[in-house]
Amino acid sequence: TDEREILTWDEFGEACRDLAGSVWDSGFRPDIIVCVARGGLLPAGSIGYALDIKSLLVLNVEFYTGIGTTLLDPRLVDPVPDNHGMAGKRVLIVDDVADSGRTLKFVHEICEQYASEIRTAVLYEKPRTVLKCEYVWKRTDRWIAFPWSALPPVNSQKNSEA
Ligand code: 5GP
Repeated sequence: TDEREILTWDEFGEACRDLAGSVWDSGFRPDIIVCVARGGLLPAGSIGYALDIKSLLVLNVEFYTGIGTTLLDPRLVDPVPDNHGMAGKRVLIVDDVADSGRTLKFVHEICEQYASEIRTAVLYEKPRTVLKCEYVWKRTDRWIAFPWSALPPVNSQKNSEA
């Protein structure tokens, strides 16, 4: 179908609170949150506050070039950052959505080189994902509109008369 799954800012707040509650209730006590930028930045920050975790590592990954169109493989946008913060630690990977799941699989494999335990939290998980997440707020097979990317960039010339 053509219909989108819409996430509002209010629902985003509730979703992060719920996910953090699920992590806490499961007994998992992450030392560090690995944030998959850019989509995971806002959820990771919000969940970090809710779990009282200040230690964050950002891995900036690119894969999608448009709605449903991707590069051949996910790749790091920036050179591999200093991973020392992850060594021997319990890691919670946070992202917006596991769609194909290939981005999270890619990040998981990077974390496996350092971390002692890894779990994954996402706002949404789609049925086809190759990586099953431990913590999922909602499941859908639709294209999701997130509040932070629902509008075009402010420099967009689309509606400009100039
Ligand atoms: P995956 O590797 O699981 O296919 O997707 C990686 C990234 O692509 C997600 O973290 C997200 O940023 C973007 N993406 C995948 N599916 C969707 C979607 O339905 N809506 C939006 N807005 N982004 C998506």
